[in-house]
Amino acid sequence: MKHRPPLIPSAFEYASPRSVPEAIALLRNRGDGAKVLAGGQSLIPLLKLRLASPTVVIDINGIPGLDYIKENGGFLKIGALVRMADVEASDLLLRKYPVIHDASEVIADPLVRNLGTVGGNLSHGDPANDLPAVMLALGGKLVATGPSGDRVIPAESFFVDSFTTALNHDEILTEVRVPVPGPRSGGAYLKHELKVGDFATAGVAVQVGLGPKGECKSVGIGLTGVGPTAIKARAAEEALIGRRPGDGDAVRAAAKLAAESADPASDIRGTAQYKRDVVALLFRRGVQMASDRARPGGAG
Ligand SMILES: Cc1cc2nc3c(=O)[nH]c(=O)nc-3n(C[C@H](O)[C@H](O)[C@H](O)COP(=O)(O)OP(=O)(O)OC[C@H]3O[C@@H](n4cnc5c(N)ncnc54)[C@H](O)[C@@H]3O)c2cc1C
Repeated sequence: MKHRPPLIPSAFEYASPRSVPEAIALLRNRGDGAKVLAGGQSLIPLLKLRLASPTVVIDINGIPGLDYIKENGGFLKIGALVRMADVEASDLLLRKYPVIHDASEVIADPLVRNLGTVGGNLSHGDPANDLPAVMLALGGKLVATGPSGDRVIPAESFFVDSFTTALNHDEILTEVRVPVPGPRSGGAYLKHELKVGDFATAGVAVQVGLGPKGECKSVGIGLTGVGPTAIKARAAEEALIGRRPGDGDAVRAAAKLAAESADPASDIRGTAQYKRDVVALLFRRGVQMASDRARPGGAG
């Protein structure tokens, strides 16, 4: 018999459950050795490099009913298996949730977006992924389904550390929820990358709601790639409340606070100080863009 070369990843069993309860039972029975496979765009490279060596890979792609984008009960609800390409193509997200749409256009490249899922982007816990900051800006919630049912986790408690989320090993992220924005709300996501398709040198997600005098009534800010997790820039959010987006001094002061809340590492994409400067710049542009979109006639 001809010699067969070994596979690059270490050997693993493959399971293809047809329902969420079936997947959870497998996760429970197989313990820490089990890994969920969604789009595979982050997991497969880890397997090939043997940075992950699960005993069983649980492919959730055969589970029906996890690929919706809809508004229901005051929330935008996105199923975990929605592909980034479907996010990009969604008219609802373009019109009412432009901060999500903006991010979908700058995540990796079209090939990755065709397979990569919303649930995978968030569950991976990669501080360089773009959707975590967007969820922080939008005040999103993540639905973790496990043996005892659903747990709704606010985005700000979900990202625990680099590549570590609040998901238990026997839970699957099944849905993402975002409060439907009020009138005169808008958002924007801006990302600086070294080349098209790269992870962010830094990214800033902004969501604002304007009051009757054009002042900021609500503000959400999330930062990408400048700390061990995506960062909610709370001091910057608070500094903008009650201020007009056109008030240059107020926006510059808030941008400084956003930059100070970043905790970047110096690496091939730039020094820590450079990344803080990028945060401040993207913040100012993002507030402008989000508030333009919040005004009557603006998209989102
Ligand atoms: C070349 C390249 C460039 C990239 N650039 C970017 C970029 O610029 N911005 C960006 O945001 N991302 C980028 N990515 C990552 C990409 O967006 C991935 O798709 C995403 O991080 C993971 O999604 P996935 O569906 O492929 O998950 P998978 O790779 O299948 O899984 C990733 C991890 O999440 C877990 N997981 C997946 N789904 C669930 C779930 N529903 N419940 C519980 N656990 C789950 C898996 O067990 C695994 O640990 C890039 C990837 C590549 C290959």
